[in-house]
Amino acid sequence: MTSLPEASQTHSSTGIHRRDVLKRVMAIGAVSLVAGIGAPPFVARAAAPYQLPALPWPENGLEPAISAKTIGFHYGKHHRAYVDNLNKLLADAPALADLSLEELIRTTAANPDQIGVFNNAAQAWNHTFYWNSMRPKGGGKPSGALLQKIEADFGGWDAFAAEFAKAAQTQFASGWAWLIADGAKLRVVKTANADTPITQGKVPLLTIDVWEHAYYLDYQNRRPDYIKAWVETLANWNFADEQYAKIKT
Ligand code: MN
Repeated sequence: MTSLPEASQTHSSTGIHRRDVLKRVMAIGAVSLVAGIGAPPFVARAAAPYQLPALPWPENGLEPAISAKTIGFHYGKHHRAYVDNLNKLLADAPALADLSLEELIRTTAANPDQIGVFNNAAQAWNHTFYWNSMRPKGGGKPSGALLQKIEADFGGWDAFAAEFAKAAQTQFASGWAWLIADGAKLRVVKTANADTPITQGKVPLLTIDVWEHAYYLDYQNRRPDYIKAWVETLANWNFADEQYAKIKT
């Protein structure tokens, strides 16, 4: 129901045709008319200028685990700056300006000359995915199919939860921890800075931001406390269920 299935598509940076882009624009537009909460969460437009998507909950909706003050800065300053900086960079790069955000990320990922565009595009995408990876009164576990798959691939729920928390804790400096589908296998991975699994054809199911700006106002240096509160009270397994259902159908 959202645009996220694009994240499961892989293509070369040279294989993008304007006709495909237009088809995608039309598809996303159609989706946005019929879908409800969270749509279209990942690309407000399928081409530049990109827009900052609305948060899926009020800024104080994640308290007490994450304060409204943190969300105010994180969304209103950091995320907004990534989107604004991206649009400024693309104003000087018309060849990149009619790609979807996912296409733009994949196109620029391997090009050192485009690291600025990549960093801002990937951070714009990652943050929208992160907001959707949390919900008020979250935590718990996913439902049937995803829970069974996690138990099978990680050797039980507790083993998965421990691996996810460890990845979030041990990501050195800034970055992200993810639950992803890697082909037929679920895996926990961590990425540094702006890096995102979608550049490698992986399908993210859930992510936690472990940049200090995500937790420092509330937890200072206590990243483990942030991770614990996140997993226990914020993780949005409904969202992960939805992402998993898309790749199963
Ligand atoms: Mn962040």
